[in-house]
Amino acid sequence: PGSTQNWQSVPSQDFTTSCSGGSGNPRLIEKTLIREITFCERIGKGRYGEVWRGRWRAGGQVAVKVFSNREESSWWHEAEMYQSYWLRHENILSFIGADQRDCVANMEYYLVLNYHPRGSLYDFLHDAQLTVQEALRIILSLSAGLDYLHTEIRSSVAKPSIAHRDLKSKNILIKSAGQGSQCCIADFGLAARSDFFDNLPDKKQFHFQVGTRRYMAPEILDSSINLSSFQSLRQADIYMFGLVAWEIGQRVSPGSEPYQYPFQHDVPCDPTVEEMSAVVVEQGKRPPIPESWSEHPTLVELSRITSECWDKDPTTRLPSLRIRKDLMRLLDSLLRIRDSGCYFTDTSDQGFQSW
Ligand code: ADP
Ligand code: MG
Ligand code: MG
Repeated sequence: PGSTQNWQSVPSQDFTTSCSGGSGNPRLIEKTLIREITFCERIGKGRYGEVWRGRWRAGGQVAVKVFSNREESSWWHEAEMYQSYWLRHENILSFIGADQRDCVANMEYYLVLNYHPRGSLYDFLHDAQLTVQEALRIILSLSAGLDYLHTEIRSSVAKPSIAHRDLKSKNILIKSAGQGSQCCIADFGLAARSDFFDNLPDKKQFHFQVGTRRYMAPEILDSSINLSSFQSLRQADIYMFGLVAWEIGQRVSPGSEPYQYPFQHDVPCDPTVEEMSAVVVEQGKRPPIPESWSEHPTLVELSRITSECWDKDPTTRLPSLRIRKDLMRLLDSLLRIRDSGCYFTDTSDQGFQSW
């Protein structure tokens, strides 16, 4: 694809300082970085390639996303997204570098990323039992990452608005669990930039029906999306955010309820656009809000937020900043209530204690 000349090369000893904390320049250490890494085990497999846990020679673990020859353009797109200054935020997966290597007759392409041992949100939720506070913190951190992506910055360090377009629990990683629960957004293979989008001569050529069909917003499923504005791509992200927030919320005191992914009982595995449309567009179905949410003020609010996120009218969905602020306010009041102890004294019901 394009040239890599303007990707900054740095000596490998800079690695440990440059990759920590997700700030500073993204680095490309072309044709040296990957040789410094020992592949340990495969930790993930997406639609396109494999993700490995690796050990960097100087110590420390990394995740390596491997693309084959055929996926060179996906590698290029994702690397370009990460290598800009834009994707530097604590709730966005930290990028270390990109590389490529000749592997017997074929080229292989790599993205080296911070490794998160807890894996994807999807895997984490399967046997998670969360407190309201933990769930809220994960959703809030997700909204912070999404708000950062969506926000256009027009200062000396400009940043376009970015739509992720494939938000789902498998593309979100758990950074920490428990009291300080946080996640980060990963997999920028389909992300779109507002500056490129706005300059497209013919928006009709824009390939909007991409991503994971199970999470596709109704206007993408039925092609009614308004392509005159980039805002529409952000609104589709918000719909997906609503589904993920529901996935997280359902793990609050789940009892013996098994984890469910969105529309698990409505459509088969790997549904077609038609199968999704029948449920999401024609029947207007959305995931069921657990009855237990009505018993806790924070979850009542969460149910309002998720419903406003997955509204069928994209223009009435909440913008990411509003979501983040609402969730921050919710966390604040949750902590105040907890500190004043009123839940624990007002009820003898054992439910609240564990919440
Ligand atoms: P694809 O584009 O092929 O879908 P992803 O980037 O979504 O690839 O990664 C696939 C899976 O690999 C994720 O769902 C997750 O389970 C795992 N994974 C990806 N990156 C990391 C990471 N940095 N740390 C830990 N696990 C990861
Ligand atoms: Mg993925
Ligand atoms: Mg991908």
